[in-house]
Amino acid sequence: MELAQSTAAHPPDTAPTAARQRVVIVGGGFGGLKLAQDLVDDPVDITLVDRRNFHTFQPLLYQVATAMLDPGAIARSLRAILQDHDNVAVRLATVVGVDWERSEVRTAEDDRIPFDVLVLATGAVTSHYGIPGVEEHAFPLKSTDEALRLRSHVLACFEQADADPSLLDEGVLTFVVVGGGPTGVELAGALTELIGRVLRKDFPRVDVERARVVLVEATDHLLGGFGRSSQDNAYQTLRSRGVEVRLGEKVIGASATGVDLGHEIITTRTLVWTAGVRANPLADALGLAQTAGGRIVVDDDLSVPGRPEVYVIGDLAAGRDADGGLHPQMAGVAQQGAVHVARQLRRRREGLGPTPFEYKNKGIMATIGRNAAVVEVPGGLRFRGRLAWVMWLALHLQRLVGFRNRWEVLSQWAWNYVSYDRTARLMVDAADDLPPRDDGSGSPPRPVPPVPRTRSEV
Ligand SMILES: Cc1cc2nc3c(=O)[nH]c(=O)nc-3n(C[C@H](O)[C@H](O)[C@H](O)COP(=O)(O)OP(=O)(O)OC[C@H]3O[C@@H](n4cnc5c(N)ncnc54)[C@H](O)[C@@H]3O)c2cc1C
Repeated sequence: MELAQSTAAHPPDTAPTAARQRVVIVGGGFGGLKLAQDLVDDPVDITLVDRRNFHTFQPLLYQVATAMLDPGAIARSLRAILQDHDNVAVRLATVVGVDWERSEVRTAEDDRIPFDVLVLATGAVTSHYGIPGVEEHAFPLKSTDEALRLRSHVLACFEQADADPSLLDEGVLTFVVVGGGPTGVELAGALTELIGRVLRKDFPRVDVERARVVLVEATDHLLGGFGRSSQDNAYQTLRSRGVEVRLGEKVIGASATGVDLGHEIITTRTLVWTAGVRANPLADALGLAQTAGGRIVVDDDLSVPGRPEVYVIGDLAAGRDADGGLHPQMAGVAQQGAVHVARQLRRRREGLGPTPFEYKNKGIMATIGRNAAVVEVPGGLRFRGRLAWVMWLALHLQRLVGFRNRWEVLSQWAWNYVSYDRTARLMVDAADDLPPRDDGSGSPPRPVPPVPRTRSEV
């Protein structure tokens, strides 16, 4: 009886009917979430499917990895974000394929979700380019889990150095970051500050002067896509703060104890890989045309050629600008793509034809560390230093989803700024992450001493 009552109470204007379009969105990241939010007032029934129950603000992952922010500050439950909208259902599931004949999405949990319109927005994954040892030994940085794992590992390395100073000769405090794009630059700068300002005080018995942060980039410049002056500024700033910047150097292999640059092996237990992404592997399972990096080929309205009811947005889509260049894999492209697809769905309901998606570049920015950033705005305006840093802070704060996250991030930033402290330096499951020690004797590696575990966060 309860059930009958609650069904009858479902608002008639949002109750699913055969006439209402069923829009299934796969992925609740920047693109998928924005699309769901844009469609909440439309006469459609939306199912947002994600393998995680939360949305992650990836641009601040490096701050979680360097103990500046708690993970909860940059992630938010999808159900909490969308709970006020009767026409949106959130489904926790991993999509593994699409049954094109029956118009159903297939999930790893063996469910099928029928759709009239399907929007694929599963983003990108780390690409290791098949370099031997990298996938096994590198720390990627694309999720809160990975950021937490890296944070725990960095702290565990210091615990190890404290317990056994001889490990410094084995590179336990050498941190190699590969990839000189914004993430690599931001992470290298933040790691140097964490070590120099915070861990130095936490570990007074450790010879922190011997800690190294090495940033390796294959091209002859940092921050590809930025202007020369911003690239030079990032290079000079990082160097002045103690980062060893290696330009024109390529990683050709990695092991538990080192990173091979061909002419030199850097002895280290920490390789962070920010050097490449490829489309989410779901793209490979759909039988659709793809680019070299796995992105799904789309028409200029972001629909899949020959399948006007299927759209692809964000990092997964191979959208192109007027010159034929692929759109950058950035949050703004994903969000603008979402707004465009919402508009296309409205046009279709009105019997109108498709319009092309035009990405509007509103500028690019990267932070290098405390009081240091570079910002480039279309039209040639360039900012650097403290002003650029404040612009970077303000924009990222404004882009975070929800007031609670903004407040949490702002308060943690403010505390870090005035106190030079890092509030989130907790180790979570770190003991499993330390690579085994190789003493060169050929005998089995010595076990890593246990490290304290603290579990107080997500
Ligand atoms: C460390 C880092 C820093 C970045 N910094 C910036 C920056 O400063 N500025 C900027 O513009 N961009 C930045 N980016 C890039 C930006 O985050 C991406 O371009 C953006 O997230 C792409 O949005 P999306 O919706 O395509 O994918 P995502 O936001 O990655 O979302 C994909 C979603 O799909 C879900 N998913 C994946 N596979 C499945 C599946 N099989 N089934 C169900 N769900 C699935 C995931 O859980 C996720 O929620 C950064 C990225 C990283 C990793």
